Amino acid sequence: MTASMIQPVKGMNDVLPTEIARWQFLEATARDLLHAYAFEEMRVPVVEQTDLFKRAIGEYTDVVEKEMYSFEDKGGERLTLRPEATAGMVRAAISNGMLRGARHKLWCVGPMFRHEKPQKGRFRQFHQIDVEAIGFAGPDIDAELIALSNAFWQRLGITRVTLQINSLGTADSRRAYRAELTDYFRSHYDTLDEDSCRRLEGNPLRILDSKNPTMQSMIAKAPILPDYLDAESKDHFAELRAMLDALGIAYAVNPRLVRGLDYYSRTVFEWVTDALGAQDAVCSGGRYDGLISQLGGEATPAIGFAMGVERVVALLEQAETAPKAALADVYLVAQGAAAVRESFRLADALRSAMPGRRIDTNLGGGNFKAQFRRADRSGAALALVLGENELARGVVQMKPLREGAGEATEISLTTAVETVGQWFSRQE
Ligand code: ATP
Ligand code: MG
Repeated sequence: MTASMIQPVKGMNDVLPTEIARWQFLEATARDLLHAYAFEEMRVPVVEQTDLFKRAIGEYTDVVEKEMYSFEDKGGERLTLRPEATAGMVRAAISNGMLRGARHKLWCVGPMFRHEKPQKGRFRQFHQIDVEAIGFAGPDIDAELIALSNAFWQRLGITRVTLQINSLGTADSRRAYRAELTDYFRSHYDTLDEDSCRRLEGNPLRILDSKNPTMQSMIAKAPILPDYLDAESKDHFAELRAMLDALGIAYAVNPRLVRGLDYYSRTVFEWVTDALGAQDAVCSGGRYDGLISQLGGEATPAIGFAMGVERVVALLEQAETAPKAALADVYLVAQGAAAVRESFRLADALRSAMPGRRIDTNLGGGNFKAQFRRADRSGAALALVLGENELARGVVQMKPLREGAGEATEISLTTAVETVGQWFSRQE
């Protein structure tokens, strides 16, 4: 009797070797670019106290109301798998005494968890590249973060994304707007869905963020925030726009862009795509000057963004810009115990001499024919063949595997590493 098969968890994906080249291209590009912009990587736990997310994200959000993976651990602590990274990054900055007037440009990457309805571009475990600038108040860092994300698309060869920006003003200036908005929604109470009725008193701004199609035309006629902005927020926004203009970064001001999280103030931005259907947001960010004090740290201005890795990988797949990695560059074919041992020695010498090249050895024996079949399948450019006969004469057969790459030649074992290196240089 065979055992029943264990099923994968719904909405949680395996990233297979056939897809990994795009992930690695994306991650390496992000790492290089963040380094170039002088951001530092930080690593924080995947699990935090449930209260952290409740306080940081806000009770009246889809994430906190419906989507968190929360549980009690064996010691009775209320914990949650992180649904986003900002809360943990800020918690870490506070816990480690990193504030005290200091400034930090930080980033992290990793899995996030939300119990949503899985569909194309929307999963229960997904990944974000998260970037946070803590201790910066001015519009210059807002522009830098947007420029960084813009440079990221350029380096990845992704063109089907556009930038939307808006200003949420300060919490104070939002108060008048909020009252106006509450009145408006109250006068359209019949059109509101259940979530929106609940949010009407708690946080009416969230209703603007609703994805419910039956409410869209009513939402479109709601009062808009820019009419209520305070003078300082207006200046901040004007300076940001001037900097983006100077950098030649195109954007649209979307007065209805209100990020889903409570702690945002002033600048919000979102990169959207028309290439992925309904899941159109690929990178969302904004300023959260109020969050750190809300979490018990000293009041510190900050701004950050999060990029959805799976959605960017999907864009890369369409753009076909990720380099395709060959499985191996050199494949060593060997027969006879002594020749196999020598092939292992040669493989290690090649790996040391040619970092970046992929050197694969035949494992598990087999006749030459079977070994050549594996060599072909490996995608290697070159096979090095070593039998007892070759070993006795101190030579190795060097056999190009791709068409038009030249004839097989016999080379000396003692200089094989140099000869193989020269062969690859001639190919470039
Ligand atoms: P959406 O409007 O698509 O639900 P969101 O506003 O909930 O996105 P954020 O919390 O701002 O998203 O997260 C930042 C980015 O993470 C999003 O722009 C998106 O690219 C990605 N993302 C969010 N939720 C998911 C998910 N469930 N699956 C895959 N990617 C996601
Ligand atoms: Mg969401």
